[in-house]
Amino acid sequence: MRLSGWGRYPCIDADLIEPTTLSAARESLAELASLAPRGLGRSYGDSALAEKIVGTRQLRHLRSFDESSGVLDCDAGISLGELLNLFVPRGWFLPVTPGTKFVSIGGAIASDVHGKNHHLHGCFSECVDSIEIMLADGQLTRCSRTEQPDLFHATCGGMGLTGLIVGARLRLRRIESAYITQTTHKAANLDEVVALFDSHGSATYSVAWIDCLASGKALGRSLLMLGEHASDGELSLSPKPTLSIPLDMPSTLLNRYSVQAFNELYYRRIRQTESQQRVGYESFFYPLDSIRQWNRLYGKRGFLQYQFVIPKAAGLEGMRAILQRIAASRRGSFLAVLKAFGAANDNLLSFPVEGYTLALDFKYETNLLELLSELDAMVLAYGGRLYLSKDARMSEATFKHSYPHWTRFQETRARYGALHKFASLQSRRLGLD
Ligand SMILES: Cc1cc2nc3c(=O)[nH]c(=O)nc-3n(C[C@H](O)[C@H](O)[C@H](O)COP(=O)(O)OP(=O)(O)OC[C@H]3O[C@@H](n4cnc5c(N)ncnc54)[C@H](O)[C@@H]3O)c2cc1C
Repeated sequence: MRLSGWGRYPCIDADLIEPTTLSAARESLAELASLAPRGLGRSYGDSALAEKIVGTRQLRHLRSFDESSGVLDCDAGISLGELLNLFVPRGWFLPVTPGTKFVSIGGAIASDVHGKNHHLHGCFSECVDSIEIMLADGQLTRCSRTEQPDLFHATCGGMGLTGLIVGARLRLRRIESAYITQTTHKAANLDEVVALFDSHGSATYSVAWIDCLASGKALGRSLLMLGEHASDGELSLSPKPTLSIPLDMPSTLLNRYSVQAFNELYYRRIRQTESQQRVGYESFFYPLDSIRQWNRLYGKRGFLQYQFVIPKAAGLEGMRAILQRIAASRRGSFLAVLKAFGAANDNLLSFPVEGYTLALDFKYETNLLELLSELDAMVLAYGGRLYLSKDARMSEATFKHSYPHWTRFQETRARYGALHKFASLQSRRLGLD
């Protein structure tokens, strides 16, 4: 079958095997010389792609839940959305969530995903007590911060290269409402939005939509959204309609004129410099999930998401230089998101470091890859790095320069027999054989 990540670039012929039991998963591992694990395919590039893929979509059982502590034991194929549907009405929420709920627990661990609260609560692994993993020889083992910690720190953020995650024990957090109190601040440029991030560092959630085509004095103009869980006791959301993009849009639909017009409207629709609204958690955390298959908007050739982080000391200067280069290229996307990261964790390949991260989409077109390579050099020069879960084209040299623990990662994989057995197009490209 033809398979790709969410960006639909690259797209390859692959065999996808979806075992329904652990013994079937073990048989698949025994039969295949090399394979990539896959969850729900929401990583953008080629990290869940290989000729042979073992998917976890059929491993979706809840094993146990302790109502007093919020400790949940579940299969790795269950999605964040399925968990939220079950647990929000009972007053529980995920301590860390990415910008889509169509992500599996295994995928969230393998990417060590971050949310809008990284500056306070870190990555997804912070709420993971232990992981159940099937190693290359089919053996099931458990790892945590105290049991086989080397395997735990390589698996969280390890992009499926240590083994097949089949289950996890997580800690959910208590909430009193399914609603979020959202405060929106309008920032006229990059300096203003960075100052706002700093002055609102105690806000639980923060994220800025940034107009990456604005230039000159308006470079980096943004809407900063802050969020707090409401406390009104309302634990159910009223259903919202979903739209879907039924077919591939002509890729010419998204061009610098349409994106510029969208950005102008989006920025100007908020009139006050500060405004407040009560919104359902789905609108706050997952605005794009209400448009099914929105990835078709970019046309048949797909798109690439480019996400980088620049450490705090160089953050403002680096972000300004990179935004100037993107604005000059006139290729900006209408989905550009800026967040502040807190301190890095101990996982060998987790992406966040303390600083600022920007994620933006680029339609795949001629000469795009040259522009992205130019941006890579700038990111590296400012001491930053790229997020593996969004990547489809970074070079081995860029990766190895910016992820200094890659050698320890490979040593750990070797200890658990994972080298060559667990491999993706991405891992081969990055020299993680
Ligand atoms: C609209 C949108 C918004 C997003 N927002 C964010 C965000 O805010 N923050 C963020 O961090 N990420 C974000 N992401 C990226 C997404 O959260 C990650 O790519 C996540 O890993 C996808 O999970 P998945 O189940 O789809 O995994 P896949 O895409 O299928 O796989 C991703 C990686 O995990 C590995 N993997 C998957 N399942 C397993 C398993 N059971 N065992 C071992 N390895 C496994 C794969 O081999 C691959 O390397 C976003 C993606 C989209 C489409």
